Amino acid sequence: MTARVPALIVHGGAGADPAEGRDELRNGIREAVLAGWVRLTAGGTALDAVESAVRSLEAHPRFNAGRGAVLNAAGEIELDAAIMEGDRLRCGAVGAVTRIAHPVTLARKVLEDGRHVLLVGDGALAFARQAGMPECDPAELITERQRRRYLERAAPGTVGAVALDLRGTIAAATSTGGTAGKLPGRVGDSALIGCGTYAESALGGVSCTGDGEAIIRAVLGRRALDALKALNDPAHAAQVAADVLVQEGGGQGGLILLDWRGRVGWAHSTPLMPIGWISPAHPDPIIPF
Ligand code: ASP
Repeated sequence: MTARVPALIVHGGAGADPAEGRDELRNGIREAVLAGWVRLTAGGTALDAVESAVRSLEAHPRFNAGRGAVLNAAGEIELDAAIMEGDRLRCGAVGAVTRIAHPVTLARKVLEDGRHVLLVGDGALAFARQAGMPECDPAELITERQRRRYLERAAPGTVGAVALDLRGTIAAATSTGGTAGKLPGRVGDSALIGCGTYAESALGGVSCTGDGEAIIRAVLGRRALDALKALNDPAHAAQVAADVLVQEGGGQGGLILLDWRGRVGWAHSTPLMPIGWISPAHPDPIIPF
């Protein structure tokens, strides 16, 4: 096996409001990039890297994942997350989970358990308990900001990460509170493998954000990798996928891509999608927004 040059890209959701404090978003993205990068440069796996990057954003109250997630129509938080490793297409996901501050870690436990790909609701919580995951009071995840926004029905800030490790493995992860005011029990694209999240080490990895129902209709994650295969250019492939989302899915959003060579691409149809990426050639995170 030849050592690969590692790389990592993260996003903080396609619905970010350009008028609202970019510095806080930039700092959150930078911390997440560095949290994943520390793992990769220490010889950690791509799965470790994307989990760490996403956990950092789940803990940040400004993003719609973990603490700070949006509220559903019942004024409660239900979280979706998925994680995938592209060597053997191993994946795990959780939908509509409550009481868990880091759903990406629960998704990883589903992946490692290996029996199922997706667990939802009370069944996911029972699995979390068996797996010894810490539980929290649902009220601890609700921020004052999201309580205010609940009244406005705004939902920016889903998070995601894609990493390539030294062994050439690609992993992708996505975590979200979903769309504001969604019906209780709704599961979006983020938890659905092939829609919001996908990875295939021979090709690349992807994490999507935006109108979940549109992303599901277009099977956007897998379509983005098909575009990458055809075009061999992550930036171009990301743009093609963003166009597919608008034209075929009938929604708005964006995505990040990383190919097997460590080249990054991203595109969005919305005004702002915070992203950051890092590679040995750029050891200080690039935060291009
Ligand atoms: N795609 C997410 C969902 O529909 C929301 C988002 O990315 O803003 O659950």
